[in-house]
Order: sequence, then C-alpha cells, then structure tokens
Amino acid sequence: MSYKQGQIFSFGPNLTPIAAMDAGETIDVVCQDSCGEQIRTEADLLSKVDLDHVNGATGPIEVRGAQPGDTLRVRILDIRVEKEGYVGIEPKLGVLGDRVTEARTRMVPIRNGTAVFSKDVRIPIRPHVGTIGVATGGPNLSTFYPHDHGGNLDTKEIAKGNAVYLPVSQPGAMLALGDIHAIMADGEVCVTGVEILGTVRLRADILPGLAMKRPVVETRESWMALGSAETLDEAARIATADGVDLLARGRGMAWEEAYMLASLVCDLRISQDVDPYRTCKLVIPKAYLSRLPGMAANARRRSRTARRRT
Ligand code: CA
Ligand code: CA
Repeated sequence: MSYKQGQIFSFGPNLTPIAAMDAGETIDVVCQDSCGEQIRTEADLLSKVDLDHVNGATGPIEVRGAQPGDTLRVRILDIRVEKEGYVGIEPKLGVLGDRVTEARTRMVPIRNGTAVFSKDVRIPIRPHVGTIGVATGGPNLSTFYPHDHGGNLDTKEIAKGNAVYLPVSQPGAMLALGDIHAIMADGEVCVTGVEILGTVRLRADILPGLAMKRPVVETRESWMALGSAETLDEAARIATADGVDLLARGRGMAWEEAYMLASLVCDLRISQDVDPYRTCKLVIPKAYLSRLPGMAANARRRSRTARRRT
C-alpha cells in the first residue's frame, strides 16, 4: 500500500478506508516524508512548504473485525528508508525556536546504515514511524497532533522489533501512518528528525480484552505509557497516571504501592517537546510488569473460544 493510493491529513471519527487487511496479516506501507517531497535540496526550506501537503499519513487501512473497545496491536517488523533525508529548522519552531533567525535545511545522505550529518559526524540510523494512529472517538485532529488515538507521537521506540498498541474507537480501526524518521533523539528538539521516505512492514492484531485509553509502546525490555497534551507538564501527568494504573492493575497492587514502585523503577521521559501537543512516556521495565492487564484474560477468552470451536 502506498501514499500514492491515499493519505489523510487529519484523524477523525469518520474515515473512508483506501484498503483493508485481516488481523494477523503482514503488509508493507509506503510513506512519504513529512513534507510531502517538497524538500529536495538545501534551498528548500521548512518555512516555504505548502502546509496543506505536510505530515500526510498513508491510509486509512481498515482492519477487518476491529470494534470499538478493542485494542489494535501494530508490530513494526521492518522499516526501509530511502537514500537521503533532511533535517530542518525554522524561526519559532522547536524548543529554541526563539533563537532561530532564519530557516535552514541540511540534506542528510544515508550510507551503509548511517546518516551522514557532516564530514565528521555519521550517526547509525534507527528508523521509526513518527505518525501512526486510528480513527478517533469524536474529535477531528490534524495529523500534526498526537493524542489518545495516536497521531504525531514522534516516539523513537515505534521502530523495528517493537509494537504500538492503539485504542480502537471505530469499526475497522482505520489505521494510517507516515512521517518516517531515519534517526531522532528523545525530545526532537529542533522540530525534525532526519525526515525521509520509507516503507514500513507491519502486522496488525486485534486484542479484544484490552480496553486501553491511550497508546502504549512495547519494546523487548519495557512498556511505555504515552501521554499527549497541550503542555509537557500535563503530558507527563497523563503518562505517569496511565503507567501507574497499568502497574497497579497488572500486578494486582494497591495504587499507592504502584505509585511508589513507579518512582523507583519507571523513567519518565519526553518523546517530543515540539508538536502542537507534547508527548511524554512512562517506561515500565518488563521485570516489574510481564504483560499488560487484560492480556492474560484475553488469552483465556481466546482459548475458551478455540475450545468452543473444536
Ligand atoms: Ca512528527
Ligand atoms: Ca517528522
């Protein structure tokens, strides 16, 4: 599936799919870079791009059988990126936008798995998906926004080998993704990663037993409860509240005890501090939470269903 077949520029409750997939199916999704190929040389500036064609997400893709109240687990199996991306700055954008006097673009070739930032600085790439989400429960939000449906989460762990869990609000979920970064650090401080075209190989599964309010990312070592809000403070509070709740329910622990444990073992980190809403993550090591609450019940329900069928 390719952005040439269709992209969306906002996530809302009523999205018309451009394609459909089955749960458990593996697909490739070709995503445009976040500026829609409007930046090809260092003379092309963030300040000049046509904003109507920025941050498109390929999709929506209907996941057959997904229903409101389910959770969609999207496993990122691989991300292949093109040969060149870019990083850019623009006055007023980014954490230090007040100090930027003019827009600049740096083209960044990708060679042998490294991003060539300059003659002296080469960075091993770790591609991730910046924007990924599903139809919302009500609001229409531009793809610039991260929120409870996913969206512009700019969370560097949405990368190969990891999974993102998204709460399903509408039949078919309506998955869409784009805004690939070849490399980006926590915070995305200057307002971009290495923005680049890429192809994401993913598998989507429906988890009926997990009623989740907001996105969660799973890595090999940890769970990350993501919170997005207008301010960093509020995003931090939402991520912490969700993470402590997962810990309490998952371990069968009193909330007060989980809150204290979180303070000892769960890092509170910033995914990005530059989008219209900010995103924080509470990182719960799997040593203290082996599975999400509801996952075990879900497995039992599935096995009961399987027994009924036999
Ligand atoms: Ca982004
Ligand atoms: Ca981006």
